[in-house]
Amino acid sequence: MKKITIAIDGFSSCGKSTMAKDLAKEIGYIYIDSGAMYRTVTLYCLQNGLFDKENNIDTDRLEQEMDRIHISFKFNKETGRPDTYLNGTRVEDQIRGMEVSSRVSPVSAIPFVREALVRQQQAMGNEKGIVMDGRDIGTTVFPNAELKIFVTASPEIRAQRRFDELKAKGEEPVFDEILENVKQRDYIDQNREVSPLRKAEDAITLDNSNMTIAEQKKWLYEQYLKAASL
Ligand code: C5P
Repeated sequence: MKKITIAIDGFSSCGKSTMAKDLAKEIGYIYIDSGAMYRTVTLYCLQNGLFDKENNIDTDRLEQEMDRIHISFKFNKETGRPDTYLNGTRVEDQIRGMEVSSRVSPVSAIPFVREALVRQQQAMGNEKGIVMDGRDIGTTVFPNAELKIFVTASPEIRAQRRFDELKAKGEEPVFDEILENVKQRDYIDQNREVSPLRKAEDAITLDNSNMTIAEQKKWLYEQYLKAASL
């Protein structure tokens, strides 16, 4: 079977990461969560006072400080998944909270942020054998990927999944807040000027509103087998 590049794009909280991680593990590929990289830049902004009271970002300072933001991933044996690190410190839990979720889309709409992260993502995938998920992987990061999937599900179902996830982590989420955040992120992600979220022409759409994780896993593995044996 030849080594390929797999791009999984779609709306927020539609289960892309779970599918992508599970597939990568099963077929022995590297998995990169590109959303975690945008979240980490957002966390850096929060930690370093780059947001003002109205949540405007000091883009001049961020541009100057971009090369001080080093993002890396380390495999966590306990969870069987990669954890995200910011300048050597594990930030996997902090980047998933609402503080970051509610600010990440404006940060990821900044052109110099996208340029810097896309460059790093392309370098990570130059030897193929990678599964990357995000918003612009099939369109911008790896336009020549052999397998492109575009995942979608209704906003309510996605908000419910996110709610359950946060609840399981011991947080006390408010469903309406999450639904609002999901819709707001969809809007910003689809309407930004640089690399807006859209389906690549050659991507296969998967609406997983009514699918179990096991069904999605099986479906994705079949798509991989087809693409890798061409
Ligand atoms: O995938 P996740 O929801 O963790 O991504 C967080 C945010 O990062 C998204 O809402 C989107 O604004 C941004 N993002 C992006 N391009 C990517 C991945 C994520 O703009 N490739």
